Amino acid sequence: MRLPDGKGASIRLRRGASLADFAEKINADPAALVQALFNLGEMVTATASVSEETLQLLGAEINYDVQVVSPEDEDRELLESFDLQFGDDEGTAEDLAKRPPVVTVMGHVDHGKTRLLDTIRRTNEGAGEAGGITQGIGAYQTQVDVDGGERVITFLDTPGHEAFTAMRARGAKSTDLAILVVAADDGVMPQTVEAINHAKAADIPVVVAVNKIDKPEAAPDKIRGQLTEYGLVPEEYGGDTMFVDISAKAGTNIDALLEAVVLTADAALELTANPDMDAQGVSIEAHLDRGRGPVASVIVQRGTLRVGDSIVVGDSFGRVRRMLDEFGHDVEEAGPSRPVQVQGLNGVPGAGDNLLVVEDDRVARQIAAQRDARKRSAMQAKSRKRVSLEDLDSVLKETSTLNLILKGDNAGSVEALEDSLLDIEIDDEVQLNIIDRGVGAVTQTNVTLAAASDAVIIAFNVRAEGKATEEANAEGVDVRYYTVIYRAIEEIEQALKGMLKPIYEERDTGGAEIRALFKSSAIGTIAGCMVTDGKVKRNGKVRIVRDGNVITSDAKIQSLRHEKDDVNEISAGYECGMVLSYPDIQVGDLIQAYEEVEVPRT
Ligand code: GDP
Repeated sequence: MRLPDGKGASIRLRRGASLADFAEKINADPAALVQALFNLGEMVTATASVSEETLQLLGAEINYDVQVVSPEDEDRELLESFDLQFGDDEGTAEDLAKRPPVVTVMGHVDHGKTRLLDTIRRTNEGAGEAGGITQGIGAYQTQVDVDGGERVITFLDTPGHEAFTAMRARGAKSTDLAILVVAADDGVMPQTVEAINHAKAADIPVVVAVNKIDKPEAAPDKIRGQLTEYGLVPEEYGGDTMFVDISAKAGTNIDALLEAVVLTADAALELTANPDMDAQGVSIEAHLDRGRGPVASVIVQRGTLRVGDSIVVGDSFGRVRRMLDEFGHDVEEAGPSRPVQVQGLNGVPGAGDNLLVVEDDRVARQIAAQRDARKRSAMQAKSRKRVSLEDLDSVLKETSTLNLILKGDNAGSVEALEDSLLDIEIDDEVQLNIIDRGVGAVTQTNVTLAAASDAVIIAFNVRAEGKATEEANAEGVDVRYYTVIYRAIEEIEQALKGMLKPIYEERDTGGAEIRALFKSSAIGTIAGCMVTDGKVKRNGKVRIVRDGNVITSDAKIQSLRHEKDDVNEISAGYECGMVLSYPDIQVGDLIQAYEEVEVPRT
């Protein structure tokens, strides 16, 4: 087959593209590319997504400069094709208005992050004229009096840097400022340092809450000293980080902390947004609600979101049917930094997905559909492990693949499940393939797909709907229900281990020493031995050791005699004659007998 020659031309390929996509771009025969890659030592099918390195490797081979386009670039281009862009305020400086800071609480486990968020939320419940008990919508706002003026702060309700980092990994900038909680009775701990690094990486300012000062053993000054070493120098020491001693439990100094947040934001950041444009924002949490359908909590970043707007959030779209605030009250519109729970989407978006108000439902649907298609192929690339020439043999003989379909109650749990499953360490002999995932009940479509591809369905906090169970039974599809992620992971891990070929371990059973050699014309060399420990067996495997070196490790005792009798085994203290499968033996050689025992995988 003739190989194409790109003569150095540049081509752009999407991350997760297949050889067929590549071939189409350069007008070549896909089979030629499969062949070329095969010659480079990798076997893939034309339609499988391949890694970025593979695309580039192949490109280099046939003289194309391959540029793999990142999902972010691709999304930007997608939006541009609809004359949209995400992330910039429209208009001039005059159109910008101040907006509240959005704050994440980070710090080591048990240092009081959750307690602090609760305490702030509770002061808020008493205050605001709306009043009422806050609902978990993933974020809330609170007020604080600073220099005689009332200021608002938005808090993300999920403490910890995992959520924060997960969102950032998707290119979402959800947070303006971090509160680092450090327990005064404990000090700087590993996750404290991690949190500092995450804040630095995101380039956001930090306010330090030195917590638990109600405790007698609290040593707030020690904390200041420790954090100085990590570049957080307290203002009182001449640095620019504000430290506030608080007790989340007793409610001490909470206002001072909030004031510090506002002052730090004012000093370090210019938080403005144009409130008069089509809203843009970020989804922070989403799930499927029994009565309401998909609900997504979003923080508006610029513009104003209104009931009735056509929106696209990640690969979901719809029209804002209803918006609720953190008190569960209906709101008609939400401006910059305001968290609201949105109803009316057709699906459940992921945390960190961006929200855009678009012209009409048609545009929203088109953008969502293109993102969905792209996500699918990217996922495919991610869940498929590469087959290389080295293991081509075993792949051809038998592929041990466990196909899975994941269903869960919200995008976060499905993602968490998928990530943990793909993290399971397994041998190359077995692969885990996640062929589909989604939010919501197990449907008949899921079962049909599972049946067609021998997949197991993992249902996390969801059940089967309609005729799905019936069909699963009829088709023999295994649907497994879990309510705890680690149980699911544990079982899959077990299943994978069960699929692995057994491992054998050599276990020594005894030893003998060669004392004399006898030649027999009929049977060759006979070793006259003394069994020194344990037992040796006829047909048993042995290692032969000479002067401390193993000469062979897989010889066999072909015949075993005690005096004139053939015996099956012989124990320590007895003499015997052996014929070994290894001919080149000498007096003084040690015979180590062993068995191969199957050991369970751990
Ligand atoms: P997280 O893991 O950082 O979210 O920590 P939590 O908020 O769950 O708090 C861990 C423990 O510390 C809980 O038992 C809290 O009641 C306790 N705690 C939190 N803040 C304070 C405080 O200011 N003083 C005291 N004495 N205990 C606190």
